[in-house]
Amino acid sequence: MRPPRVGYTPRMNQTLSGGRRRGARTVYLRAAAAVLLAATLAGCQSSGEPVTDSSQLLGTILRVSIYDNGYDTRLIQDVFDRVSQIEQQMSTSEKDYDDTELLEVNRAAGDHPVRVSADTFEVLQRAQYYSRITEGAFDVTIWPLVRLWAIGSGGTHVPPQEEIDDARAHVDYRQLQLDPDAQTVFLPDVGMGVDVGGIAKGYAADEAARILGDAGVESALLDFGGNILVMGTKPDGSPWRIGVQRPDAERSRYIGIVRTADKTVVTSGPYERFFVQDGVRYHHILDPATGFPARNGIQQVTIVAERSMDADALSTSTYVMGLERGFDLIESLDGVEAIFVTEDRDVYVTSGVPDFFELTDDDYTLAGSPSSASQ
Ligand code: ADP
Ligand code: MG
Repeated sequence: MRPPRVGYTPRMNQTLSGGRRRGARTVYLRAAAAVLLAATLAGCQSSGEPVTDSSQLLGTILRVSIYDNGYDTRLIQDVFDRVSQIEQQMSTSEKDYDDTELLEVNRAAGDHPVRVSADTFEVLQRAQYYSRITEGAFDVTIWPLVRLWAIGSGGTHVPPQEEIDDARAHVDYRQLQLDPDAQTVFLPDVGMGVDVGGIAKGYAADEAARILGDAGVESALLDFGGNILVMGTKPDGSPWRIGVQRPDAERSRYIGIVRTADKTVVTSGPYERFFVQDGVRYHHILDPATGFPARNGIQQVTIVAERSMDADALSTSTYVMGLERGFDLIESLDGVEAIFVTEDRDVYVTSGVPDFFELTDDDYTLAGSPSSASQ
C-alpha cells in the first residue's frame, strides 16, 4: 500500500536540481543537500518570504529562516554566535582549534579531571546516557577511533589493523567519569578521549531554537547540515514539509516527505563524510565493536523527535545498531520515531511514522516490521 503522491510542480523540481547553493565547499555539498531540499520544500509553500541567513559552522552549513514578521538577520547572527561558542567549547578537531574544553579533557586523560562549562557538561551527560542505553553502539569516548580514521579531516586510507585494535581498546564510555557537583570530566586512561560529533549539532540546534523562542519567534526553520528543526507551523498554520533525502542519489532527490510542526528531523547516512579505497566506501559513523565504519545493511536513518540533541544521538546510534536493534530501541522510547532505509531500498518505519510521513519515491518500498523481514 503506497500513499498518494504529493503534487509538486515541475518548476519546483527544476529549482531543486538547479543547485542554488553557491560557494559551498565540495566536502559539504552532500550535507548541505538534505538541508537545502528541506528548506526549499518549506519555503516554496509559505506565503511570505522569510528572513534567512547562513553560516559555515560545526563542519557544515547552517541556515536559519525566520517566518514571523518584524525580525532581521541580527537575531540570526546572535544564533550563529551562540553556535560558534558551542563549537569553541566542544570541538575536538586539532586541525581547527589549538584549545577547546574537550581537547583539554582529552589531553588530561590518565592525569587529572577538567572542569568544563555547563553546556559541555550537559552534552557529555546526555552522550553518556545514549552510550549506556545503546550499550556502547553510540560511545562518547569514540575519539581515539575518530582521530585514527580522520574521516572528513584528511583521512584517505584504512589504518593498519593493530592501530585500529589499539584505538578500540581505549574506547569505553563506562570509564568516563562525570562529577556533577564539581562539573568535572575525567578519563582515567591515557589514550582515551571524548568526541561529541554525533550529538553536538543537535544540542546547537536546540540552543538556536531556544534563542529564537526567547526573542518571540514562533515560526522558523533551522537547517544544521542534515539536522532540521522546525519551530511552530508555517505562517499559514499548515505543517512544515521536510524532504527526507534519497541516500544514493544526487542531492536534489528525496524519498518522501515528513509533515510536522515543532519537531526536529535528523538524518544520518554514509554520504556526508567518507573516502573510497579499493572500491569500498569508508564513512564517518564508526562501530566501536569493530573499529570500522558501521556496515550492517542500513543506508540511512532519519529520527523525528522533540529535541534535536536526542534525534542527533539516536540517528548515529541506530545507524550503528542496525535495523532490528535500532528499531526496538526507538519503539522503546517515548516521543521518538524513526525511518530506516536499507541498502535493498526497503523503508522501515516505527509505529508513529505513518501519521506524518509519506513515501514518494517508487524505487523504495515500505516494508513491514523488521523481524518479519529478516527471516
Ligand atoms: P553528521 O555529523 O554527519 O550529521 P552524525 O550525527 O551521525 O553525522 O555523527 C557522526 C559523528 O559522530 C562522527 O563524525 C564522529 O565524530 C561521531 N561518531 C562516529 N561514530 C560514533 C559512535 N559510534 N558513537 C558516537 N559518536 C560517533
Ligand atoms: Mg548524530
